[in-house]
Amino acid sequence: MIEQAKISKDKQRVGLLYIDLDNFKQVNDQYGHEMGDKLLLKFSEQLWSEIRPSDQVLKPQEESIARLAGDEFVVLLPDIKDTINAGKVASRILDIFDGGFEVEGITHLTYASIGIAVFPDDAKEPSELLHFADTAMYDAKQNGRNCFRFFTQEIADTIKQRQKIEYGLRASLENDQLSLVFMPIFDCDNDDIVAVEALLRCNAPELEKIGPDQFIPVAESTGLIKDIDLWVIDAALQRLVTLQQQHNFTGKMCINISGVELNNEHFPSQVKGLLEIYAVAPCSVELEVTETALVAGNKACLDTLHALREVGVSLALDDFGTGYTAFSQLIHYPAHCLKIDRSFISDLFSGNDPRSKMVLIIQNLAELYGLRVIAEGVETEEQLNYLKRHGCDWAQGYFLSRPMAWDDLLKRLAM
Ligand code: C2E
Ligand code: MG
Ligand code: MG
Repeated sequence: MIEQAKISKDKQRVGLLYIDLDNFKQVNDQYGHEMGDKLLLKFSEQLWSEIRPSDQVLKPQEESIARLAGDEFVVLLPDIKDTINAGKVASRILDIFDGGFEVEGITHLTYASIGIAVFPDDAKEPSELLHFADTAMYDAKQNGRNCFRFFTQEIADTIKQRQKIEYGLRASLENDQLSLVFMPIFDCDNDDIVAVEALLRCNAPELEKIGPDQFIPVAESTGLIKDIDLWVIDAALQRLVTLQQQHNFTGKMCINISGVELNNEHFPSQVKGLLEIYAVAPCSVELEVTETALVAGNKACLDTLHALREVGVSLALDDFGTGYTAFSQLIHYPAHCLKIDRSFISDLFSGNDPRSKMVLIIQNLAELYGLRVIAEGVETEEQLNYLKRHGCDWAQGYFLSRPMAWDDLLKRLAM
């Protein structure tokens, strides 16, 4: 198609829109493929009418639209005077989905993510142009969907970085280059170490200086996270057994799991299996899942949490306060613990009064629902004393201890 437009010969400016529908899979899953086909057909008709010649901006040709695969379409805009015109067309295409997309009386919550690359500004080769438009579309998906993005070098660099991380993660899983560090968690009443949080590190050369904040999202979007989570649970349980048997440790091992697992129906039985292999009492393990992973009313997610509770492990809502858990929803989550997000602790005594009040709000909420509270990111004595005064149960943070290697943890526990 692009060859037909002879872009390189005509030396004109050509815009390429790469469109990928959002939530299309749900239509197929919920209403069947026939409904999906009808939706695609109706969309392609509307797409065509959006780029008709009546629009003075464009001189559309027969070959201006193509369906690449599944729910992916491309639109070629030959001879655009300005790149902004490509943005205007993308905006009109997004408008097609305004208020939902109706097919045979059913309104589907389907939208589009669109990437735009322009010849010759971004690329001179057709295949490169297509690739860059696809790259920009991917960025639109990452930025909340239902939007369009122009290709930029920054986007290309981000994607390259993600690929590097993905490569490093795969190599780490294969070559045993993952490791854990351990962050002690302290009882606010007596300063005893009551738990240890396992934190993942990746030692592949590609991931030097790249922490879990950066590599976990890549692991999640590439599906590697399931293997990684199981690796972490396995390694953490192995360490817990040593702590219990050789160092008289009676506290909990806190293990972070990805929100992805909440939609993995096999996860609870995998956890159970690992607990049995290591003969670890489930009550000595706490699984932390970030609050933002919880989707109100999502049955699969609730089922998984309940199944984990059945297994006997305790559950903590990590980074609490950053998500959107309506208080009325909280009663539905079978959680045992709220971990107040680090950002709220650092706002204590910062002069940011409204935000610093969140600590008290979460504390009171936890008391009402009978949940334990852990404050994370305690960096000063002043913060710790405040938390102690207001009844916080457990605390962790650089003021108390940094995450440490295994040998250092053993020394610390022996103190
Ligand atoms: P998280 O579970 O909220 O872990 C706390 C993070 O905050 C850790 O960073 C820890 O080093 C850091 N932190 C704790 N106290 C302080 C403090 O006082 N000051 C500052 N500046 N930082 C503090 P880390 O290890 O980089 O982990 C970041 C996030 O990555 C974790 O947040 C968790 O969401 C995720 N993560 C870490 N390990 C794993 C894992 O094994 N599996 C999964 N799925 N996610 C993990
Ligand atoms: Mg955590
Ligand atoms: Mg946290």
